[in-house]
Amino acid sequence: MEAKSGFTFKRVREQMVEMLLEMGIKDFRVLDAMSQIARHQFLDEAFWSRAYENRSLTIGYKQTISQPYIVARMTELLIEKASGRGKIFKKIIDIGSGSGYQSAILSFFAEEVISIERIKPLVSKSRSTLLNLGIKNVSIINGDGYMLDGLKNVDGIICAAAPPEIPEDLIKLLKKDARLILPVGFKDMQKLICIEKQNKNSYEKFEVEDVAFVPMLGGISRNGD
Ligand code: SAH
Repeated sequence: MEAKSGFTFKRVREQMVEMLLEMGIKDFRVLDAMSQIARHQFLDEAFWSRAYENRSLTIGYKQTISQPYIVARMTELLIEKASGRGKIFKKIIDIGSGSGYQSAILSFFAEEVISIERIKPLVSKSRSTLLNLGIKNVSIINGDGYMLDGLKNVDGIICAAAPPEIPEDLIKLLKKDARLILPVGFKDMQKLICIEKQNKNSYEKFEVEDVAFVPMLGGISRNGD
């Protein structure tokens, strides 16, 4: 479709990046990644014309792709303490991969992105989207973000679904100084939280802003229920 119409989405993507700048996203590494990833590819064609607006859009199975602003903000918080360009982390986790868009952005910053999604059909769809874009360092796993026992010493975690309370088990997976960025709480009173691991049993926590994410649900699902 892009080739036929001669319209490449490049200009609207640049406008999206300008909007992110105006909204307060400052980290050029994040803006650069957002300017390179074609967000429309993560959506059904019916939504392509709105793909670069700052809005969440449906991806089926009662789930949504997050707003560009929130993807940028969470990524910015995740990498804030790490200086340098390129793949500054070894291993990071993305919980609630959904369309795979956030994982695609994170693929710029880590050698390995482990992405967890509980809804099976979203796993196969996002895998093929990332493959088509030539992104090879993201593994999408059909699993439950509440049960990630096998992983440890990770450099950061982003979670795009809101648990009712901070899941302490996730903090255990972080290495020292690493961050967990996630929404916490129920609809209408959710906060984006940034957690930074201090020592084995201590962490610092700060609230970033009000947000509205889908709830984090337990167990894997064949069809979104
Ligand atoms: N980052 C996604 C946003 C998807 S919305 C994107 O860029 O498109 C959040 C996703 O979290 C949904 O797809 C939902 O199915 C998933 N989710 C909810 N609870 C989960 C859990 N316990 N483990 C893994 N994924 C979960």
